[in-house]
Amino acid sequence: MAAKQTKYIFVTGGVTSSLGKGIISSSLAKLLQARGFSVTIQKLDPYINIDPGTLNPYEHGECYVTDDGAETDLDLGHYERFLNVPTSQSNNVTTGRVYQSVINKERKGDYLGKTVQIIPHITDEIKRRIKILGSKGKFDIVITEIGGTVGDIESLPYIESVRQLKWEMGDRVLVVHLTLVPYLSASGELKTKPTQHSVKMLQEEGVQADVLVLRTERQLNREIRKKVALFCNVDERSVIESRDVSTIYEVPLLMQKEGLDQIILEKFKLPILDKIDIEPWREFVKSVKNPAQTVKIGLIGKYVELHDAYKSISESFIHAGAVNNCRVDLQWIHSESLEQGDIRQKLGDLKGILVAPGFGHRGIEGKINAVRFARENNIPFLGVCLGMQCAVIEFARNVLGLTKAHSTEMDSKTPDPVIDLMEDQKDIIDKGGTMRLGAYTCNLTKGSRAARIYKKECVSERHRHRFEFNNAYMDVFKNAGMVPSGINPDTNLVEIMEIPSHKWFVGVQFHPEYKSTVIQPHPLFVNFVKAALE
Ligand code: GLN
Repeated sequence: MAAKQTKYIFVTGGVTSSLGKGIISSSLAKLLQARGFSVTIQKLDPYINIDPGTLNPYEHGECYVTDDGAETDLDLGHYERFLNVPTSQSNNVTTGRVYQSVINKERKGDYLGKTVQIIPHITDEIKRRIKILGSKGKFDIVITEIGGTVGDIESLPYIESVRQLKWEMGDRVLVVHLTLVPYLSASGELKTKPTQHSVKMLQEEGVQADVLVLRTERQLNREIRKKVALFCNVDERSVIESRDVSTIYEVPLLMQKEGLDQIILEKFKLPILDKIDIEPWREFVKSVKNPAQTVKIGLIGKYVELHDAYKSISESFIHAGAVNNCRVDLQWIHSESLEQGDIRQKLGDLKGILVAPGFGHRGIEGKINAVRFARENNIPFLGVCLGMQCAVIEFARNVLGLTKAHSTEMDSKTPDPVIDLMEDQKDIIDKGGTMRLGAYTCNLTKGSRAARIYKKECVSERHRHRFEFNNAYMDVFKNAGMVPSGINPDTNLVEIMEIPSHKWFVGVQFHPEYKSTVIQPHPLFVNFVKAALE
């Protein structure tokens, strides 16, 4: 259903961070999509980094990669998993990128001698980047999530841009403000004051929220809704309760019950048709919540203290579990803990082992030990990016007898660089945005496990790496039983390695987890979980 002019929804957050703006944005988008509108979601991040590609996962969680090779915030992963529509470079904007554009223009003399200021130059650049998505004629509704919390110094130019757009575009713009209603157990009460304050702060910055979404542990009664409505200048139906739920995938159903999509469409004066295509989603949530069995799979990584560092992987297991009618009981295992001691005691009860992506030396030997344990004990194994590289190193050392084999990332002087820096990476010095990024084609070998799983001859998957399987070793690997089953046709780079004699052993140089969605769970994860169940 094409709306005449693109509408814009801004999602802001108050009181505290981590209230789940990304999930609320995704859920609202899902409902609008289910009602026939084409929707995209964008995230504006108030930090100075150009993108999160150079950020430590401990700082920022996973770096999510789009088809067009943008290194982005992990919320974009939620957007894709909920909507099943790819995002792009334009869907994530940081303060760093905004300032970079403005400063580059200034250096070129584009401002014709004017003093360059936050208003209008920075805000104009922010508005331009918001409107880009709407100008493509592809989307009826663009949802823009503003990172950070209202009142932060960093987010002021973004809120100011929202104010200006509201002024310029009138009823084509709505603001949804997400806040917290805490429960004080000492007095046994839900408290609305923090919400009142954050709405007021938004007003001080010139923006009136149209809809309030209140995160709460307990049910909000009529009194509380009325009170919030009165103090915050919104009608009572625009006060939406968002109770804590056991799975994020339930939030769209909850928001539908609360009428969030209805109120938004009413305010936009868009048609509300009775038909809402949400049944497959409901079915999915049902299977997530009522699994017939569980299966223990180990995720071996060096950032496991912070689950957000592997967000797309853990979500892919939820999708794959639902298809297999089970719950994947993910065991988060620190790779450093596998460098010494009895590995059987640590990994013995796992039905599948995934070695995670990563960079640098820390914990690498633990990852290699985990691969060995999976290979020698015929335990289903999936290696992702660095995980695939570890599988190659392990095979070289313990099967081919090249005991000092390594990746030149960890040991630049190894006599057997089975994993080596890609040729076109050798002259690169800058760290930001210079890896092999985004979607590349991969031809699958006929009859291989990969080809059987994908049921295709050619796939496209997303990448983020500098190092690669060293093709000089191709024949020795093949002869000893580890074979390439996916190759990039343009560069001959190995994208998939597998061991056909093993129960299930696949290493992929790409990141299948970036493409798993609720509607299209990734076939590799689905098949891996199936193998773990057998
Ligand atoms: N560090 C490895 C490389 O750069 C793997 C990267 C990854 O796991 N994303 O090739």
